[in-house]
Amino acid sequence: MSFVKGLRCRECGRKYPKEALYVCEYCFGPLEVDYDYEKIKERLSRETIGSRPKNLWRYRELLPIDGEPTDGLYSGFTPLVKAENLARVLGVDELYIKDDSVNHPTLSFKDRVVAVALSKAKEFGFDTVACASTGNLANSVAAQSAIAGLDRYIFIPADLELGKVIGTLIYHPTLIAVEGNYDQVNRLCSEIAARYKWAFVNINIRPYYAEGSKTFGYEIIEQFGWKAPSHIIVPCAGGSLITKIWKGIKELRDIGLIDKFETKIYAAQASGCAPIVTAIKEDSDIIKPVKPQTIAKSLAIGNPADGVYAAGVVRESGGTAEDVTDREIVEAIKLLAFTEGIFTETAGGVTMATAKKLIEQKKIPRDESIVICITGNGLKTQEAVSGEIGKAVKIRPNVASFEEHVKIKERR
Ligand SMILES: *Cc1c(COP(=O)(O)O)cnc(C)c1O
Ligand SMILES: [Zn+2]
Repeated sequence: MSFVKGLRCRECGRKYPKEALYVCEYCFGPLEVDYDYEKIKERLSRETIGSRPKNLWRYRELLPIDGEPTDGLYSGFTPLVKAENLARVLGVDELYIKDDSVNHPTLSFKDRVVAVALSKAKEFGFDTVACASTGNLANSVAAQSAIAGLDRYIFIPADLELGKVIGTLIYHPTLIAVEGNYDQVNRLCSEIAARYKWAFVNINIRPYYAEGSKTFGYEIIEQFGWKAPSHIIVPCAGGSLITKIWKGIKELRDIGLIDKFETKIYAAQASGCAPIVTAIKEDSDIIKPVKPQTIAKSLAIGNPADGVYAAGVVRESGGTAEDVTDREIVEAIKLLAFTEGIFTETAGGVTMATAKKLIEQKKIPRDESIVICITGNGLKTQEAVSGEIGKAVKIRPNVASFEEHVKIKERR
């Protein structure tokens, strides 16, 4: 049973059939999935959702597949951690971490979008999948297409972190390291996508793929007790996740699963690649492309596809945006680790540091509920913190050496 009516141009509203299309022939606007919300409203209740397995498909009526889900059956439903230690350090009353650093199977929020993209690609009859990636998408497409038995071609910038390269190669894809930045990889992939009958998850399957991000937002609402928190801080690369979290919250309101809400959304980027944040700060409708220069490689998209919509979401919600330096990113990764035990990657450092900054600037009030979106795992970007975290104490294998080198508060 499907609740998808078809695709619709975000700019001119023109309708398209549900096929592997992604751009409007008339105005070149991006296409988006269009649902029959009346029917979904009749079908879907909090109880129905609550009775289902704890993965992202518990919201399946709001996802763009026609048949049964086939991929990502264990993805999603990651913890919403009540961060009391961190709240104390930041001086706020009510703070949560939505922790996709432990998403199954590849430890980032990209497991959500890939689950939907591959389920859809199979419905369309594709036997080969591909993607242009800043790292985490590569990991997830490689892993999930291995499970599904699909052929896979994965394109990355050649200078990616070792953890992301190994975390891709382990699944035996054809991995293509392009000598260029992500924006060049993406441009190349658009040309390649036009030549082969492949499901490029973030190109020709993009309208379907992007819907998977909504589940990050649905889960925040459900885990927060079917209410919307007051403030959500979201990292931006292409600007899709932030747009879809907002879309997801509005959908839950429109189908009656939550009451009216007053959530403000905040965009987080690295100072070395902040085209969306800059547009928001300058109150401009134009996203000026930049050349990325930051350790937050998973967010290093200089020409963000959904940048305009991301800035629009922040403005519409009444939130704002901030960018942070590489130094602030590293400090924030460490702060999150030693307060909450969560080791996030550089993108998480960006979100964490941005949240801290916005609280210090009093742009986020200290007495309202705050959710920080942590989207990736620190074991993948170890380069960023090695040399910043102290060293192990080396001893010889005897007690004398132990007592010589290790300071202990008291002996028993
Ligand atoms: C891809 C990615 C994002 C942002 O994604 P967009 O939807 O392109 O804005 C955030 N965090 C991590 C870790 C990512 O890999
Ligand atoms: Zn159009």
